[in-house]
Amino acid sequence: MATQRYLAAALERTMHPQPEHLETGAAPMRFDDTSIAFAHRSNVELKQARWMFSLIGAPALVRFGSKLLRVAVALRLPLRWVLGPVFDYFCGGEDIADSLSTADRLHQFGVKTILDFSAEGQTGELALDAARDEILATIRAAEGNDQFAFAVFKVSALSDNDLLEARGGTGRLSAIQKAAWSKVERRVARLCEEAASKNVRIMIDAEETWLQSAIDGLAESMMQAHNQTRCVVYTTAQLYRHDRLDYVRELQTKARKEGWIAGVKLVRGAYMEKERKRAAERGLPSPIQPDKASTDRDFDAAIDFALDNLDHLHIVCGTHNEASTARLADGMTARGVSPDDNRVAFAQLLGMSDNLSFNLAHRGFLSAKYVPYGPLLEAIPYLIRRAEENTSVGGQTSRELSLIRTELARRKS
Ligand SMILES: Cc1cc2nc3c(=O)[nH]c(=O)nc-3n(C[C@H](O)[C@H](O)[C@H](O)COP(=O)(O)OP(=O)(O)OC[C@H]3O[C@@H](n4cnc5c(N)ncnc54)[C@H](O)[C@@H]3O)c2cc1C
Repeated sequence: MATQRYLAAALERTMHPQPEHLETGAAPMRFDDTSIAFAHRSNVELKQARWMFSLIGAPALVRFGSKLLRVAVALRLPLRWVLGPVFDYFCGGEDIADSLSTADRLHQFGVKTILDFSAEGQTGELALDAARDEILATIRAAEGNDQFAFAVFKVSALSDNDLLEARGGTGRLSAIQKAAWSKVERRVARLCEEAASKNVRIMIDAEETWLQSAIDGLAESMMQAHNQTRCVVYTTAQLYRHDRLDYVRELQTKARKEGWIAGVKLVRGAYMEKERKRAAERGLPSPIQPDKASTDRDFDAAIDFALDNLDHLHIVCGTHNEASTARLADGMTARGVSPDDNRVAFAQLLGMSDNLSFNLAHRGFLSAKYVPYGPLLEAIPYLIRRAEENTSVGGQTSRELSLIRTELARRKS
């Protein structure tokens, strides 16, 4: 099984070859060592995970289960006993204190933590201030603590979505909206100031296109303010958008010209269906690439571009894609960039692609996990998204399940 997966990854890499001048003969990055990938999981945990991934591998079951869960939440049924193992696998805990043991465990194997308070779509000034305070607490938890790589937040946790949309659209705001927008700017500024003063790097997640224009404006002004001599603030570029490779290039050009450092988390993008649907409903051209190959092409081009411009462009590679991850790791090796050079970091989600995170850390790369936390009931949409990502495509066993099976078989032999 592991050999099959390695061959598949190797085939994928020959389809996206490294530029010829980068071939150095250095050992390429491999992710098939499941003993490294799952060293942090006991046999009991792996068996539980095998059971869980087998269940969520069935698309019909996930569809039915998702509906059932929504009803159960509405009826306030006790769900901990059903969801407990899934929650524990994908989330750090219900609060920061609860998540520290996860951070500790990851760190024992060289993987760092990014505490992710995953509130989004908040409304009301009190809730927005409370979200800011919670994110401030994640920055303070990371201060001077080598277990943590970055802090992170979503602007939609700090602003009403309608306001973000209005600000990014025509930009014409009513007096009330203007006052609310100044508060959003102050919340974002407060978080970035705190991160800078505590020497904690902070990432701003990317969201839907109709919210993103306003987020871009905020992120750019924070980078200009805090990234003069070191890179504190990172924005996020979604390469499933056909305009984002150019955006990354322009950010770098601007940073170079004005003498600061652009920090960019590179991701493919999480809202494809929603984006396409909305564009179709409004008779607008879709902001999304025509196909997966185009997204992959731009993602890999962004990696190569960053590797050639690391003096003014620092990146976090947020992906579960093996070929892209290998491209970046091998690209660093080929260019003589040390694996622990902190201008480049790799990130995956807790419970996903451990073969990437732990094999990267094993080779000395800066590897980190998003560790989402929050009340179990509020984590349900997040857990459903993880289940949907792991349902079987075309009858194939999900990537996670096949890795877990390989490791269990290895431990038995
Ligand atoms: C650490 C981390 C942080 C993240 N932060 C963000 C964030 O801030 N904002 C955000 O939006 N997402 C974020 N994501 C999610 C990310 O954007 C992807 O949805 C997810 O990681 C799957 O993409 P992939 O590169 O891992 O893997 P792959 O399986 O190689 O790619 C799947 C992705 O390819 C794209 N794709 C699939 N089919 C098509 C198609 N037909 N046409 C065009 N494109 C297609 C989609 O983006 C899809 O999600 C983050 C992911 C990680 C791991």
